[in-house]
Amino acid sequence: MKCWHCNTELIWGGDDDLEDDEDFVMVTNLSCPTCNSFVLVSLPHDTGSHKKTTTCPECSGAGRITVERMRTGEQDGARFAPPIYYDSEEECEECGGVGELALDS
Ligand SMILES: [Zn+2]
Ligand SMILES: [Zn+2]
Repeated sequence: MKCWHCNTELIWGGDDDLEDDEDFVMVTNLSCPTCNSFVLVSLPHDTGSHKKTTTCPECSGAGRITVERMRTGEQDGARFAPPIYYDSEEECEECGGVGELALDS
């Protein structure tokens, strides 16, 4: 990487890991041996993947959806057993239970 001001190749000074930064994971510092410019380069999270996620519309991000199921009740002397409907909480198929969908940017 060249110096912005004098185009000399910069000298790498070191990398600092950012423990609690929301936006960046690492800061690299470089300096110019010619004009003494000091350059900081901040590395954002998730470099390389460029993947965006969005909340799953199917389960509203919960990862689980409530599905109405039917099972057969006791026949109990009747000719046909009555159906019993019940709610079942299941993993959302749309997002695989994660609650987020990956979007290709
Ligand atoms: Zn320079
Ligand atoms: Zn989902």
